[in-house]
This record gives sequence, structure tokens and C-alpha cells, in this order.
Amino acid sequence: MIPKQKPRVGIFNLSSCEGCIVQILNLGEKLLDLLKLFNIVDCRVLGVKEDYNKLDIAIIEGCVMSFEEEVKAREIRERSEIVIALGDCAVSGNINFMKDITNKPHKSKPLSEVIKVDHEIPGCPISSEEFYRVLIDILMGKKITKKSITVCSECVLRENNCLLEKGVPCLGPITRGDCNAICPSNNRPCFGCRGLADDANIDALIKAFRDRNIPISQYLIALNQMKHKGGEER
Ligand code: SF4
Ligand code: SF4
Ligand code: SF4
Repeated sequence: MIPKQKPRVGIFNLSSCEGCIVQILNLGEKLLDLLKLFNIVDCRVLGVKEDYNKLDIAIIEGCVMSFEEEVKAREIRERSEIVIALGDCAVSGNINFMKDITNKPHKSKPLSEVIKVDHEIPGCPISSEEFYRVLIDILMGKKITKKSITVCSECVLRENNCLLEKGVPCLGPITRGDCNAICPSNNRPCFGCRGLADDANIDALIKAFRDRNIPISQYLIALNQMKHKGGEER
């Protein structure tokens, strides 16, 4: 059921390139629809800053890379009913995490390491359509679920020629799909921007890389170690 009052929404960013927020702006007509349903009261990129304390929905882009950002994230959490992590930087730490994955302690943290996150919108950048869908589902009180298919399954359905078979390091077999395998469909390997699939078999992918003489990146090795340790070191 749609609430009588428009939910108050704040859109914030921590360490990010703002590419996911740009995807929101790319919604065009659909953004105008969202503006009829939601009251955006705080968004630097849109030039909106109203004096509201409580928010119904906070949308946070970017990972946490400093004490100041940690404080900012906690402060937003405190005054928001629902927090959405927007994009791979917020969901997993993304490129910043990849950069310092071999350093300990890690400097970059996904949002969920610092505050409770209610919903995650993966992708680098996010899909505008998925963002729209998630906001409408929240408004309608629907449960938001993540599909458990891999990029590979979607790639096979699209009858693409497999890049991995040609010796290209594609992470599609271990990556959560629902992006219509957009990268391999455009002859680019999947770099895993939607995060690990539920049943990701990283050992098998490492073996597949070895069998094809594809160099194993530090990132893949660290990902595997984390998976085996249940992420306890992060
Ligand atoms: S997820 Fe990608 S596009 Fe989004 S803010 Fe991070 S680097 Fe930019
Ligand atoms: S190109 Fe990548 S995503 Fe597509 S089938 Fe091969 S490994 Fe899977
Ligand atoms: S194919 Fe991989 S890298 Fe490309 S959008 Fe999908 S999950 Fe992200």
C-alpha cells in the first residue's frame, strides 16, 4: 500500500566516483515519476538540502575510508528508517577494497561493516532500472529479494561465445547475475561487480584459470581465502 505522505529521502555519498548517483539521474522520465512519489530532501548532486532530521530512506553511495566517513555513516543511520547501500563501493568496498585487499588492516570498508544496511543495490555502476524497481518495491511494502543466478547462466542463455574458453579472465561463473550478462555480451569479461553468487565455487574457477594458463589475480586469491574463512578477517 502506498503511504499517504511522500517518504523523505536523502541521497549521500562517501568514498565514491558518483557514477551510481549519475545512474539515478539517467532515469530521465522515470526520475520525474519518482519525484512525484518521494520527497528528496537531501542530495548534494541534485543541489537539495532541506532541514530535516528524520529520513524515511537514506541512500548511501561509496565505501567507508576514513574515521570521518564512519561518523557520517553512523549519523545517517541514526536518523533513517531504511538504509540502502548504493553500488558496489557501498556493498563490497569495490575498487578501493581490491586496491588494499592484501594490506592489513584494510582501509576501505563496505557500509555493512560500519552500520546496519537494509537493502543493497549492487553493480558498478548500478542499473538505473534496478534502482527504480527497488524504490517502488519499498514504497509498496514488497520484500526485496536477490536472484541467485550467476552471470554465466544469463550468458549461456544469450548464446554468447564464452570468453573464458578463449583464455580471457572472466569472473562470470562466481558472480551474481541479474545484469543480463551485459559485459560478456559486449565482448568484455565480467569483473564481478554484482558480488559473489550464493554458491560461488572460487576453487573451481581458479582451476579453470590454471587449466587455460590465465594468470590468477591477487584479488581472486584473496576472495577465495575470505570465502574459506567465512569473511571473518574483514
Ligand atoms: S560502484 Fe562503481 S560507479 Fe558506483 S560509485 Fe563505486 S566506482 Fe563509482
Ligand atoms: S563469457 Fe564469462 S560469463 Fe559468459 S559463459 Fe563464459 S565465463 Fe561465463
Ligand atoms: S557482467 Fe559482471 S561486471 Fe558486467 S555488469 Fe554484470 S556482474 Fe557487473
